[in-house]
Amino acid sequence: MAHPPSVDKLARSLAVTGLPHPLLVAAARAAIASAGPGDDGDAIEAAAHKHAYRRQRTMLQPVINATGVLLHTNLGRAPLAVETSADFLNLEHDLISGKRGSRQAAVGELVAAAAGAEAAIVVNNCAGAVLLTLAALAAGKGVTVGRGDLVEIGGGFRIPDVMNQSGARLIEVGTTNRTRLADYANGAEADGDVALSMSVHRSNYRITGFTEDTSVAELATLDAPVVADIGSGLLDASCPWLDGPPPSWLEGEPAARQTLAEGAALVLFSGDKLMGGPQAGIIAGRADLVSLCAKHPLARALRPGSLVLSAMQDIALSYLARDGQSIPFWAMATASVESLRGRADQIVAAIGDDRLTGTDAEATPGGGTLPGVAIASYGLKVDGDLTKSLRDQSLPIIARVEDQQTFLDLRTVHPDRDGEIEMGLRTALEPAK
Ligand SMILES: *Cc1c(COP(=O)(O)O)cnc(C)c1O
Repeated sequence: MAHPPSVDKLARSLAVTGLPHPLLVAAARAAIASAGPGDDGDAIEAAAHKHAYRRQRTMLQPVINATGVLLHTNLGRAPLAVETSADFLNLEHDLISGKRGSRQAAVGELVAAAAGAEAAIVVNNCAGAVLLTLAALAAGKGVTVGRGDLVEIGGGFRIPDVMNQSGARLIEVGTTNRTRLADYANGAEADGDVALSMSVHRSNYRITGFTEDTSVAELATLDAPVVADIGSGLLDASCPWLDGPPPSWLEGEPAARQTLAEGAALVLFSGDKLMGGPQAGIIAGRADLVSLCAKHPLARALRPGSLVLSAMQDIALSYLARDGQSIPFWAMATASVESLRGRADQIVAAIGDDRLTGTDAEATPGGGTLPGVAIASYGLKVDGDLTKSLRDQSLPIIARVEDQQTFLDLRTVHPDRDGEIEMGLRTALEPAK
C-alpha cells in the first residue's frame, strides 16, 4: 500500500458505533492488517466498520425473542426488567436494630411464603442449590436416587457428577423405567448410612411405556428426609396469581407448594424457569435443613448479589400479591391467541406484502421444562429465510426458519415491540422487492 491510512483517523471514523476508542483502534488495526494490495481507503474503512460491528454484536444486548420458546436458554430464559439506582442498599444491614443482618433473611422469607415453605434461601442457580444441599446434608453419607432420575440438564449438569462433587455417596436404586418404594428402602438398608432420599424431576425427557415411579409422598414414609429437585420452579399448581385456571400445558409439572405438602423436606428449583425471575436457585422447606445449608461454607461461594436478590424479592412480592400479569413470563405465557392474532393482523396490514401472512403457531415453555408440550399461539410467516436480516436489526429479532419460510411467534414478543417487528420485516423484505 502506498499510503496506509492513519489508524487514529480510521478509528475516529467508527465513532458512530458507540464503542470506546481502544476497541475502535483494534478494529482499525485489524482492517489495515488484513487489507490486500488492491484495497483502497474505502475498502479498508468498510472492513474496519465490519470489525467494529462484529465486536458490537458480540456484546450483551436486548433482543426480540420471536422463536416462540418462552424460556429460551440462549436468550437468558425468563425475560425480566431490573430497575436499580446508584443508591446503597440495606443488603446486610438490619434497619430495625442497626446491626449486621442477613442478605438472605427477608427475601428468603418472602420466597418461602410464596412457595408455602417454612424457610428458603436463594443461591446462584438450581445446580448450586443441589450441590449445596447435598454437601450440607449428606457429605460422607448415602443418598438414594432412582435410576430414572439420574438426569443430565443442558450445560453439563449431571446428577451423578454433582453428587460426586458434593461428597455425598450416590446410591442408585431401581431401574431406568421402574423404581418402587422397596428399592429405596432396600438401597438405604444395604448402605446403612443414608442421609437423604432424592427425587429429580425429568424436566427434559419422558419415560413412557412399562413404567413405575415412586411418589414423593411414598418416599416420605421412609426415615430419610426427601429432597425433591423440581427444577422448573412452578410455585403452586393452582396458579393463584392468574385470573383463570392453571393453563392445561402445566399439567403434570411438579410444584413447590404441593411437593412440600406431599412430604418433601426440601424442594430445589430454578428462579428463571417457570418462576419467571432472575437466574437463581431456591432451597425451600424445613427450617432446620435450610439453616444447615445456609451455614455451610459453600453457601458463601454460591450466594447471589444484590441485583439478583432485589429482582427475586420483586418476583416474590408479585406472587404474594397474586399479580401474575406483572411477571413478564406469565403475561406472555397466558396471552390469548386472539390477542396475538390481532397483533399479527395489524402488522400484516401495515406492511401489505403478499409474502407475509399470519399463521397459527405452537409456542413451547422451553428452558428444559415440559418436553413435548405445545402452547397454542399465533404469529407471522414470510417466504424465504430472513433470519439473518432480522438478526441484523439494531434491536436484533431472533426468528425461526423451516422449509424456506421464516416464522415469528408473537407469544414471546412483548406487545411494545410490535413496532420493531414491523420495521424489521419491512427492512428484511426490501432488497427482494
Ligand atoms: C433446570 C434444572 C436444573 C438446573 O437448574 P439451573 O438453574 O439451570 O442450574 C436442575 N435440575 C432440574 C430438574 C432442572 O430442571
